[in-house]
Amino acid sequence: PDKMKYPYLASLNAAQLKAVTAPPETPLQILAGPGSGKTRVLTSRVAYLVQHHQYRPYEIVAVTFTNKASREMKKRLQVLLGDKQADNLVLGTFHATCAKYLRRYAQLIDLPNNFVIADAEDCKKIMSTLLKARKEQLDESRMALKEGVVLSEISKAKAKEETPDQMAIRAAQDPSASTSTLSMIAELYGEYESNLRESNSLDFDDLLVFGLKLFRSAPRVLESCRHILVDEFQDTNITQYELMRCFAKAHGGVSVVGDPDQSIYGWRSAEIENLNKMTKDFPGVQAIYLEENYRSTGAILSAAHAVVSQDRARIQKTLFTSHPRSTPVTFKVFSTPVIEASFIAWEIKRLIAYSGGTLNYGDFAILLRYNALSRVIESALQKDSIPNRIVGGHKFFERMEIKDLLAYLQLADNPDFTPAFVRVVNVPKRSIGDKSVSDLLNAAKSMKISPMELSERIIDGEPLPAGVKASIKKNLGSFVGAVRKLRRAAEKGSSVGDLIRLVIEKTGYEEYLRASQQDFDSRWENVQELISYSVIVSEEQARLSAGEIPEEGFLPASSAAVEALVNVAQAEEKIKTEARLHPLFRRQSSTSDGSRSRSRSASVSVSKGKGKNKAINGEDGVIEILSSDEEDIDVKPVRSQINGTVKGKVTEEMIDEMTNASESMTPLAFFLQTSMLSTDTDGGEDDKDKPKVTITTVHAAKGLEWPVVFIPAVEQGTYPSYRCTEAHEIAEERRLLYVAMTRAQNFLTMSHCQFRMMGGEENDKEASEFVGMVNRHQPGLLSSTLPDIDLAVRRYVSTMLARPHPDEDEARDMIMKHVRAAPPLSTWDAPEPRDKHSNRFARREVTKATRAAEYWA
Ligand code: ATP
Ligand code: MG
Repeated sequence: PDKMKYPYLASLNAAQLKAVTAPPETPLQILAGPGSGKTRVLTSRVAYLVQHHQYRPYEIVAVTFTNKASREMKKRLQVLLGDKQADNLVLGTFHATCAKYLRRYAQLIDLPNNFVIADAEDCKKIMSTLLKARKEQLDESRMALKEGVVLSEISKAKAKEETPDQMAIRAAQDPSASTSTLSMIAELYGEYESNLRESNSLDFDDLLVFGLKLFRSAPRVLESCRHILVDEFQDTNITQYELMRCFAKAHGGVSVVGDPDQSIYGWRSAEIENLNKMTKDFPGVQAIYLEENYRSTGAILSAAHAVVSQDRARIQKTLFTSHPRSTPVTFKVFSTPVIEASFIAWEIKRLIAYSGGTLNYGDFAILLRYNALSRVIESALQKDSIPNRIVGGHKFFERMEIKDLLAYLQLADNPDFTPAFVRVVNVPKRSIGDKSVSDLLNAAKSMKISPMELSERIIDGEPLPAGVKASIKKNLGSFVGAVRKLRRAAEKGSSVGDLIRLVIEKTGYEEYLRASQQDFDSRWENVQELISYSVIVSEEQARLSAGEIPEEGFLPASSAAVEALVNVAQAEEKIKTEARLHPLFRRQSSTSDGSRSRSRSASVSVSKGKGKNKAINGEDGVIEILSSDEEDIDVKPVRSQINGTVKGKVTEEMIDEMTNASESMTPLAFFLQTSMLSTDTDGGEDDKDKPKVTITTVHAAKGLEWPVVFIPAVEQGTYPSYRCTEAHEIAEERRLLYVAMTRAQNFLTMSHCQFRMMGGEENDKEASEFVGMVNRHQPGLLSSTLPDIDLAVRRYVSTMLARPHPDEDEARDMIMKHVRAAPPLSTWDAPEPRDKHSNRFARREVTKATRAAEYWA
């Protein structure tokens, strides 16, 4: 009868229904695999508590792992309960929830209600002052303690409720060599705490620690909480677990869902042990297992299972799907990341074209092991005008460390570029405050010179202009010195990679990142990627100077010829492959979805005709490519999407112009220009709600799902990360790949490269051992050919279309018509590098073939 009353119950399976309708007093633990509806059960249980058990919304606390997840849950509950009720639920992360209670009740634990939340920057400042005060002592005992390291130790302590005193005791008992370091950290921890209290602030971890303190000493503030629900329980730490216990104490209502196989935050002190602890702490826990996966195809599940089950210590679980097996998971090998990325872009377009309107850009996700991998992906998507967003981070060229390093290079290239000066004159810290910087800017302005020039004059001993403090001279010294060295090196023709290394060396940038940023590893990887990028750009420049059409569209800006040539080059590359899609592709180009007036890519429309030799013509914004290839397909015209900017023919002179432009540029100027072009991405408010391809790290993708998922760089050094060596770390890396794979609903494509540049050095790469194991033991699970779109698309439309399609039958017919009309597309020919003579490429070509053969043998 309930099912009639509450329609959302009708769509649940028996186990899910049992979980949702279990008596509210029964502690509930739902352990189940990905896609089995855990989050859905949690959400439905909230609705059921309100509607059936008549709980008031504010009596229910639902904790999610990220703010994004809690917004999603809220959206869903707004549908089920209506806005008013949903708004009164206590929904959020542990941090947000504690902050809410503390704002209201902090005075109960002698904390002013108007406390400030100290962000990472603030905490860093405090710690840096403390370290400075102890400089002598540290030097004496030869301890090189950095802010970042100390803060992360403190954070770990707070995650398990360890006080400074307890840490000191642990240090005294610990027989290991690092004892003295730990006791020093314990002292710093104590000082840091008093410092925060004096300034009436709480750091991020304190929200949990003080929340706990509040709930323990004044349990009545939780009187109103009758039920707590926790999603992603496997990733809670000890403090969070204790918080959950406090919430549950008042009335005993607790429901948690989790999956030990998806525990990926061990590095942040998550305790998988919490699952067992709960059984002890809550007598009568009812365990419910969900075994049906509703998310993924059979093929995706089998492949994911083959990866996760390599962990012998893992507890076996059943997970089945009634979805068809569908197309196998694709695993492809490429020679370089650029080719890998351009394949992904191409495949996205192909699937969209084939799906006849059922797939849009929002249905695609590219999941990355670490942030720095996004650079080449972003560039490939941008090149193809594929709208994309980076979730949980910045686009590569907007990241702090990249902007800092580029600013130094800009100053070396052009001392008059004031924004760069302002950005880095005090980075790393040189005690040049905002006031001093504005003094310098004002003085420079009145002298009609650049602030860089002024700084140099000051260092060279010219009298200080009025309004500039004398002390600045001392502090500017190292900055001016670094920029000058850089300029000299650039003039001597140093490679850009060397220039970047020089910035790092002369400014102590690595130390700066290490000391002040907790996510040092990720930022350092970005720096290495920038160096690698500079190598690629310089190869492009060489190619351009030799009068060849560039491979990757790295071109000098603001030249119509250049833009036109990008179109031509891209169009040429696409002819062979995309022409085969012609019935669909024409449709694509007429709707030209996602295209922007400034984008640099071209749409191709194809018509059959007599063979002609290749020719390039153009007029009135339309470039024509007439070509004949093996397939006897002529292509015309290539409509440029750069409305109005491309006019006239692409002539010999234009090619010359472009060649000259790149020849006359210094490597540094060329690099900077290319980088700036890469930052010239779309954006703007107008397309905020347009569907976009998601680029995200695997960690941030937890709990989410997409019809099509790409996982690039599935290779040794990435899965598992080169940073992980111990067995438990490797196991976590394996689970990470498992989480990534199980985000996919319909198509999953993994890939790896044989060569990947790190810090400008090219490294040979092997496929990930996790995938290697699958191929050894269960050959056939992973396929090197692309998905059979016919089958998969049909299934997508008929069984898994998440959005209601206006007319499913019509959509299916339309798709099938197109699918039948198009010849089967089972292989993708990577564009061969043009420069067959360069050693790197030649070496690649040979090894590519042999490696692939070995690998699959
Ligand atoms: P993860 O472990 O990745 O967080 P999960 O167990 O939380 O996964 P959900 O995200 O709740 O899984 O569900 C996965 C997908 O399956 C969602 O699209 C959800 O709407 C759908 N789903 C869940 N249960 C059912 C059901 N009984 N019938 C149809 N679809 C379902
Ligand atoms: Mg979930």
